[in-house]
Formats: sequence, C-alpha cells, structure tokens
Amino acid sequence: MADIIQLLPDNIANQIAAGEVIQRPASAVKELLENAADAGATEIRLFVTDAGKALIQVIDNGRGMSETDARMAFERHATSKIRNIEDLFRIKTMGFRGEALASVAAVAQVELKTRRAEDELGTYLEIENSQVVKQEPCACAAGTSISMKNLFFNVPARRNFLKSNAAEMRHIVDEFTRVAMAFPGIFFSLTSNGQEVFHLEAGNLKQRIVQILGSSYNAKLVSVNEETDYMNIYGFVGKPETARKTRGDQYFFVNNRFIKSAYLNHAVNSAFEEMIAKDSFPSYVLYIDLDPSQVDINVHPTKQEIKFEDEKIIYAFVQAAVKHALAQFSIAPSLDFT
Ligand code: ADP
Ligand code: MG
Repeated sequence: MADIIQLLPDNIANQIAAGEVIQRPASAVKELLENAADAGATEIRLFVTDAGKALIQVIDNGRGMSETDARMAFERHATSKIRNIEDLFRIKTMGFRGEALASVAAVAQVELKTRRAEDELGTYLEIENSQVVKQEPCACAAGTSISMKNLFFNVPARRNFLKSNAAEMRHIVDEFTRVAMAFPGIFFSLTSNGQEVFHLEAGNLKQRIVQILGSSYNAKLVSVNEETDYMNIYGFVGKPETARKTRGDQYFFVNNRFIKSAYLNHAVNSAFEEMIAKDSFPSYVLYIDLDPSQVDINVHPTKQEIKFEDEKIIYAFVQAAVKHALAQFSIAPSLDFT
C-alpha cells in the first residue's frame, strides 16, 4: 500500500488557520485596526461596504513597511513583534501571532499600499488565495492602506454562514468601539457605504468614552483610579442610575486589550451590590495595567480571553477600586454647596 499522508499546500493550510482568526468581517476589522495601532498610527480610518462583506479597508499613517516586509507580512507566522518565546511574556503590542494577514489573504482579495516615511516610493501588492498576483512600486501616502474585498469569496460555506448586514455591522461597530476605547490618543473614523458613522478626534479617555457611549453619560461617570506596585486600574463606572436591565456598556481592557471576563465582571457587580437592583447590570469602562509577565494572552486565537497569573488578586483589587470610587461619589454631593 502506498503512503497516504501529504502536507497541505500553503493556501489550504492558511484557509484552515483563517477559520480560527477570521470568523466574520468584524474579526478582520479588529486585526487590521490593531495592526494600524501597533504601527504607531495617530490616524486610523476604517471604510466598509455591505457590512464588510464587499469591502473592508483600513488606512493608517503609521510607520509603513519596506518592500520586503510588505511581502513577508502575508506569510504565516511572520511577525515583527516577537523573536523568541520569552517575548511572549513581555508583549506590549496587540498582535504577535503573525497570522492575521496570512489568514486574511487566504480568504479575501487583498490590496496593500504601504510606504515608510523615509522611502520615496512605496509598495503596491495584490494578493489572492495567498498568492501575490501583482507587485509594483507606488507613489502613495506614508503609512499603510490595506483593503480586503469579497471576504470568503473562495470559501462559500463560510460566506453562507454570515448574518444579515445589520447583524454583521453591529459586530464591526463593537470591534471598532473596543479598539477606539483602548487608544483615545488616536483619531479614528468609520465610514459605512460612503457615510461617516464615527468621527472620533484624539482626546483623553473620558472624551473618548463620551464620544462613543453618548453625551448622556457625561455627568454620570464616576472615575476609578488606584495604583499599586502590582497593578493600576483606571477608567470609569456609571453611577448606579445608569444600570440597565440588559447587559450593555461593559468594557474591560488589560494592557490596552479588550477582554471578556465573567470573573472580573462579577467583581464589578459585587462592588455595586445594594446600590443597584439585583437583576440590573452596571456600566463600566475599566483599564487594568500590569506587568505583561503576569498575564498569558496566548490562550485564545482572537486573544479576547486571557489568563492571569494571580486571578484572585486582580478580582479583589477591581472590587475594592470600584467600591472606593462609588463611596467617594456618594459622599461628594454633601460637599457640593451649589
Ligand atoms: P502580527 O500583528 O501578529 O505581527 P499580522 O499578520 O497582523 O501579524 O502582521 C504581520 C506583520 O506585518 C506585523 O508584525 C507588522 O510588522 C506588519 N504590519 C501589518 N500591518 C501593518 C500596518 N498597518 N503598518 C505597518 N506594518 C504592518
Ligand atoms: Mg496583527
């Protein structure tokens, strides 16, 4: 009998890997926005057509790529962000797995324009099915513009799994919002089918949160701010009156990364105990900064779940910080003589 095991061709391997990272247009949006932030951009513009099904484009004014790097960027496991395994535990960037662009290029038609400030000419690349179909020098703006057309054009089964434009657009807005909240110092815009739906000037954290959650929050945020040697927590919780019957505006960021954590959510809820109805949800936007060696962000392909070295300390700290903030807010009115 002949041997039967074969290595998969690159484009198939990339398509399979893409399944983990790029589930829907919003996943590609997240990866592209994070790449722009990692590139040090101060302005990031996102354009989508048909909820990202037809087009997702991100234009940034970040550091751009050399011609060789532009080619390399689309290889699987190609990254400028880590070099060895120790680096995994001191990550300061959003990306590090080196698979987002390889995945995108496996399931969409990609066009890249990129130029470093120091280069006179930039690079234009067209990639389809993981294959470079066109490459030429281009006179383009410093920074990077990457567009991906017809997501899953070559994976019809996946394309059929996509939800309505309204539903996919909600996912995109969620991802956009999370990245924009993590980087208030960066200008962000989101244009959908030619209409600008977000225009977020660079500002401070409170300005960014109010820009996104709405100005009705302006007077309803209590600031949280505690520092220790082990970790810092800052951000805002909504005054008890902003609690809702549905889980609404709840955001946790750890070292600038949006994460989902039922455990930390519980810590916040418990700090609100007796201040809000049992069946309601507090709103919060909280940022935790700690030594990257104290978190493992490599436990989930989309990096939305992370593992803390010492979860209990974090829980206690979050709970205490929120309690403290709420206590200060509730005594504040007695000091306000107007
Ligand atoms: P990762 O972000 O995990 O490194 P990606 O596949 O997302 O992997 O990107 C691969 C590499 O391409 C990055 O490490 C970075 O060097 C480069 N790159 C991607 N997007 C940009 C961008 N917008 N500006 C400059 N460089 C980029
Ligand atoms: Mg990346």
